[in-house]
Amino acid sequence: MQLAPTKPPDKIRVLCTKCRVPFREKIRNIREGVQVQCPNCNKLITFSTDSADLGVQRAFTEARRIKNGMMLSINRSDGTN
Ligand SMILES: [Zn+2]
Repeated sequence: MQLAPTKPPDKIRVLCTKCRVPFREKIRNIREGVQVQCPNCNKLITFSTDSADLGVQRAFTEARRIKNGMMLSINRSDGTN
């Protein structure tokens, strides 16, 4: 018996390329032109598909993967990757 329905994650892990500490950010914030601040080192991270920041690129890929997974079917992956 399930206590709560399984929800797709609404946050993904973003790796800060300055301090190398991952933090969680809402998927809806992972889009062109949005700026977030690393909670660890306060570096301002701008999400852009043109970004050379590997953490930003990975966040885009992950966000797209989850959005696609929500539309297709139940994703068995638990996100450990
Ligand atoms: Zn940082």
